[in-house]
Amino acid sequence: MIDLHTHTFFSDGVLIPSELVSRAKTAGYDTIAITDHCDFSNIEFIIKNIKQITKDLSKYYKINVITGCEITYVPPELIKKAVRQARKLGAKIIVVHGESPVEPVPKGTNRAAILSGCDILAHPGFITEADVKLAAKKKVLLEITTRNGHKNGNSHVAKLAKKYGAKLIMNTDTHAPENLLNKNLIKKILKESNLNHNDFIKIQNNAYRLIRR
Ligand SMILES: [Zn+2]
Ligand SMILES: [Zn+2]
Repeated sequence: MIDLHTHTFFSDGVLIPSELVSRAKTAGYDTIAITDHCDFSNIEFIIKNIKQITKDLSKYYKINVITGCEITYVPPELIKKAVRQARKLGAKIIVVHGESPVEPVPKGTNRAAILSGCDILAHPGFITEADVKLAAKKKVLLEITTRNGHKNGNSHVAKLAKKYGAKLIMNTDTHAPENLLNKNLIKKILKESNLNHNDFIKIQNNAYRLIRR
C-alpha cells in the first residue's frame, strides 16, 4: 500500500515520525510520505527534520519513506513561492491543502495550487470543472481522501476527474494510527466515491508513478 499524505507531531499528528513509519510498515505499507502542515513560519523546520530520518527509517523498517509537506492555508497568491521553497529544501512530495468542504480555505486555493507546480491537491472539495481540466493539463493529482469531513467531496472529484481525464490519488491524511489504510477502508471509500477496483489500480499506479518522477 502507498499513502502520500500523513502527519506527525511536527504539525498536528499524534505520532513521532519513527512510530508512524513503524506502524505503517506493520499495516502493510510499502511506501509512505510524511507531509506535515507548513506555511512560511515552519517550512524549513519541517522539511529539514523529516529529511534527516527518512533514509534510516527506509533502511531499517524496510519501507520507502519520503520527505514531503502539506502547504496549508498559505494565501493563494503565495502558494507558488511556498512550493518553490519546499522543493529547494528537498521535499519530494508537495501536497497543497485544498478547498475542503468542511473548512473555510480561501477561495482560489485550488486554482493557485494547480498552477503552483505542486504534486497533489489534497481534498479539493467541490472543485470547479475548469480547475479539474487544468489539473489534468498540469498533471496535478487530485486526492480522494479517506478522512472524515474532507471526504464529502470525493464522489464529485472522482466524477469530474473521469470526465476530464485528471489523475486521482488515494491518501489517508493520517493524524493518528487508526487512520492508516486497510483493505476495508479502501473498499468503503471506493464505494462512497463511485469508483471500482479498476479505478483503484489506476489510482495506485498514479501514486507509484508520481514517486518515480
Ligand atoms: Zn489538508
Ligand atoms: Zn493533511
